[in-house]
Amino acid sequence: MTKTLVTVLLWGLAGAILGAWSGPHVGWGVFAFGLLLMVLVSGLQISRVTKWAEDVESPPPAAVGPWDDILSLIYRKLRKDRKTIDRLKHDKRRMLEAAEALPDGAITLDGQMQLTWCNRSAREHLGLRPEHDIGHSIFNILRAPEFARYARQANWDEPLQIHVQSDDQPKTLVLQLVNYGVDRFLMVTRDITQIERLETTRKDFVANVSHELRTPLTVLTGFLETLHDMPPDSLTSEQRVRYVALMQDQAARMEAIVSDLLTLSTLESSPVAEGEPVDVSALVHKALQQGRILSRDQHVFVEHCDETLQVLGSAGELASAVSNLITNAVRYTPQDGTITVSWYRGDDGSAVYSVQDTGIGISAQDIPRLTERFYRADRGRSRATGGTGLGLAITKHVAMRHGAELRIKSRYGSGSTFTIVFPPSRCITASAADVGAEA
Ligand code: ADP
Repeated sequence: MTKTLVTVLLWGLAGAILGAWSGPHVGWGVFAFGLLLMVLVSGLQISRVTKWAEDVESPPPAAVGPWDDILSLIYRKLRKDRKTIDRLKHDKRRMLEAAEALPDGAITLDGQMQLTWCNRSAREHLGLRPEHDIGHSIFNILRAPEFARYARQANWDEPLQIHVQSDDQPKTLVLQLVNYGVDRFLMVTRDITQIERLETTRKDFVANVSHELRTPLTVLTGFLETLHDMPPDSLTSEQRVRYVALMQDQAARMEAIVSDLLTLSTLESSPVAEGEPVDVSALVHKALQQGRILSRDQHVFVEHCDETLQVLGSAGELASAVSNLITNAVRYTPQDGTITVSWYRGDDGSAVYSVQDTGIGISAQDIPRLTERFYRADRGRSRATGGTGLGLAITKHVAMRHGAELRIKSRYGSGSTFTIVFPPSRCITASAADVGAEA
C-alpha cells in the first residue's frame, strides 16, 4: 500500500515539476500517463497472481509489486498447512492399518446404526462386503433376534454371544456395542468358535471317561455287594471262581482304560522327540508274535518287511502304534481271515506301514470319526474283545508326532486297510551290516 502511495506521489511530483516547467497541460498529462502505467502494471501483476492461484502448490510469482508480501505470507501458511495435513493423513493411515490388523473385529456405526467402516476381522466374522454393506443398517446385516434385543438395551456392559453363519460356516461370536463421540457406535466382535469347540470336546471327554469307567465300576460294586450280603458258605467254589473271574475282567477293563488315557496324556504333554533311528521291522515282528497269540491260530498272517528301512522317531511310541493296528486287525477279523502286514518304502521316498485285513470292515460314515476318543463303530465287538475305544486316537497322535499320516480305507463287510505314511525326511536306509549287527 505504502509503495503504491509513494509511486502515485512520485508521478504527482514529476507532473508538478514538468507542469511548472512546460505548462499545466504537460504536468497533468505526465501524471495521467503515470497513473495509466500503474494501472497497466497492476493489471499484469493481478493476472500473474490469478494464474498462480490456480496452482497454489507452486512457488508464487516473483516481482508482483504490492502482492509480493501478501503472496509470500499466503505461501508460507499454505506450506505449513500442507505439512500438517500430510502428518494427519499419515497418522490416520497408520491408525487405520492398526485397526485393520486387529485380531478382533471392529465396526463403526452412525446414529442410525448404519455401517460406516469395518476392519478385516469384522469382514471375516460377519461375512461383510464393505462395497455393498457400508451405509446399510446393521440390523439388516446381522439378522439375529437376540442381537436386535441386545442393541435396544439401555446399556451394553455385558457382551452378547451369538451363533452366525458366515461364508456357509457356523461361527460363534462374542460381540459388544460401545458408545463413542456423539451418536457414534463401535461394535467389537470376537470369534470364539474354536474355544467353544474345545470346551465341548473337553466336556464330552470328561463325560465319556466317566461313562466308560462307571460301567465296569457298577458291575464290580454289584458283585462285591452280593458277595458281602451272602452268607459265607452259600456260594459254591465254582460260583466263587466265576464271580472272581468276572470281577477281574472288569478291573482289567478299567486298568486298560486308565493306561490308555495315561498314554494319550503323555503324548499330549511331552515335547515331540527329534528321534533316533528306529528299526520298525523289529517292532513289526514283535507285534506280530503278540497278534498270533491273540489270534489263537484262527487267522492267516502274511508279512512283507523291508528290514533295512528305518525311521527317526520314538521306539516306544512307534511300538504302540504298530501293535495297535495289528491287534485291531485280529479283533475285527473273523476266524480264517487274512491279515497282511507290510513295511516298505513308497515310490516318493516315504516309509509305509500298512495292516490289511479281510475282516468286518467299517461303513463310510464311521471312518472319519474312528480316531475320536471312545468312538466305536462296532461297540459290541470292541467291548467283547477288551477294547477301550482309544487305540486309534493314540495311533493317530503317534503318527502326527512323527510328521506321518494315518490313512484308513475300508468297506463295510469287506475288510480294512490302515496305513501310516512317514515323510521321506524321517526315513533312513540302514546298511545290511547294521541290520545284521542289530539282529
Ligand atoms: P477299540 O478299542 O474299540 O478297538 P480303537 O480306537 O482301536 O478302539 O478303534 C476304534 C473303532 O474302530 C473300533 O471300535 C472299531 O469299531 C473300529 N475298528 C478299528 N480297527 C478296525 C478294523 N481293523 N476293522 C474294523 N473295524 C475297526
